[in-house]
Amino acid sequence: MIALDSKTPTPPVIELEDVHKVYRVGTELVHALRGVSLTIRENEYVAIMGSSGSGKSTLMNILGCLDIPTEGRYRLRGRDVSRMSQSKLADVRGRQIGFVFQAFELLPRTTALKNVELPLTYSRTRHRRNKAIDALRRVHLLDRAHHHPNQLSGGQKQRVAIARALAQAPDIILADEPTGNLDSATGDEIMAIFDSLHAEGQTIIIVTHEDHVASRCRRVLKLMDGRVVRDAINPVEPPPLSNVPLAVPKAPTEAVMV
Ligand code: ADP
Ligand code: MG
Repeated sequence: MIALDSKTPTPPVIELEDVHKVYRVGTELVHALRGVSLTIRENEYVAIMGSSGSGKSTLMNILGCLDIPTEGRYRLRGRDVSRMSQSKLADVRGRQIGFVFQAFELLPRTTALKNVELPLTYSRTRHRRNKAIDALRRVHLLDRAHHHPNQLSGGQKQRVAIARALAQAPDIILADEPTGNLDSATGDEIMAIFDSLHAEGQTIIIVTHEDHVASRCRRVLKLMDGRVVRDAINPVEPPPLSNVPLAVPKAPTEAVMV
C-alpha cells in the first residue's frame, strides 16, 4: 500500500477481508458482495463507482456499520465490527461514522444549527453547541445557522448535512451520491468542501457515478457484480476551484449564540 499524500503510510481506518454479503429473497440467494478485500487509510479520499446493482450500497451499508457481512471480516480502526449486535453497531455508527446522503435528509422544522447538533445529543457528546457551530463554520454556513431547511438552497442544505456528519469528528465520512440532487456548479461547490476537508486530514469515501466527482478523489474503486474490479490512484490532484474559498473564514462565535 502506498501513502497517498505523505511519505509514510497513514494508519488503516478500514480493513475488509474477503467480505461477502448474501441476501435471501424468498427462496433465492442474491450475492451482493463476492469477496471484497480492501484497506482504506487515514486521510484517504476515495470514490466508489460501479453500475446499478454492482454492490455499492451494500458495501456502503457495511462500511457504515448499518449492516454486517455474511462472511468475512471488517475491522474499523482495528476493532472487529463484523459480528456486532445492532445496538453496538448503532453506537459505533454514532461515534465513528458521518453520513451524507443524496437527498440531504435534514429535519424540516429544525434550524441548521439544531440539525447539526441533534446527533451529538444521541451520542451524549459534550460541548455540543460549540461543536455544531464549528462544523457549520467549516462548511462556510455559519451565517445560516438559524435558517430552516426550506430557507436554504440545495447546496446549502447539503453543506448543513456535511456539517452534521463532521460535528463529532468521525473516523470516516461516507457520502452516497452527495451531488446527485444538485446542478453541476453546486455539485462542484460541494466537492470543494470535501476537497478542503480532505486537506484538513479527514478520511472521505464517496459513492458516485459521475466521472467529474470521482476525478476529484485521490483513489477510485470500481465495483462490478459484487467485486472490486479496479482500484486506481488518480495521477494528479485537480486544482481547487478558483471561485470557492478553501481557507475557512474565521467568524466570531458570538454571532450565532441563541
Ligand atoms: P448498487 O448500490 O450498486 O446499485 P446494491 O448494493 O444496492 O447495488 O445491490 C447489489 C445487489 O444486491 C443487487 O442485485 C440488488 O438487487 C441486491 N440487493 C441489495 N439490497 C438487497 C436487499 N435488501 N435484499 C435483497 N437483495 C438486495
Ligand atoms: Mg445503490
